[in-house]
Amino acid sequence: MKVIGIDLDNTIVQYDQVIYDCAVKRGLVPAGIFPSKTAIRDMLRFLGKEEDWTDIQGYVYGEGMQYARPFPGVIPFLRSLPGHGFCPVIISHRTMYPYSGGDTNLHETALKWLVQERITGFPGAPIPRSRIFFECTKEKKYERIKTEMCHFFIDDLIEFLIGDLFPLDVIRVLFDPFDKHPDNPEYLRMRSWDVGLQVFQ
Ligand SMILES: [Mg+2]
Repeated sequence: MKVIGIDLDNTIVQYDQVIYDCAVKRGLVPAGIFPSKTAIRDMLRFLGKEEDWTDIQGYVYGEGMQYARPFPGVIPFLRSLPGHGFCPVIISHRTMYPYSGGDTNLHETALKWLVQERITGFPGAPIPRSRIFFECTKEKKYERIKTEMCHFFIDDLIEFLIGDLFPLDVIRVLFDPFDKHPDNPEYLRMRSWDVGLQVFQ
């Protein structure tokens, strides 16, 4: 069995719509702006509303997470793994509490979401609870990728994948659903979960 490590936020969980809904509802951006996380972040920064951006993130990774959806194709992808000799593990870097304050436990919130979406929490679930890890720092996330002996690691953040501490013998896979990054010998690139296992053969 080859282990495929997978990031959670913005790799399995798609926040674009919930971020858009939240920003429009709070009157921070005009309705009709392209509903992507980066478009909204960039617009709020441009408008000097960095604090509002921090608040929105606190909301969507916490209380608002229940309204986020899995990326299309990710659940069938997870289900297909064992039959092809792969075993998934989720390794997520999340602080325990939001930067913006508040006492929502963000690890519990994420776990609740994974149960809500039927990714874990029942016999025969795509990923057992014991294979889901939340790490409070980036360093611990790198460490976990090593100790779980991942063969591949899929993440939406290029900076994380090419970071100095990324374990050398793990194959980097960039999840790039908006097709923002060029191909690069440093990593494999996956533009959608629907491509299935072809990237990993
Ligand atoms: Mg991520």
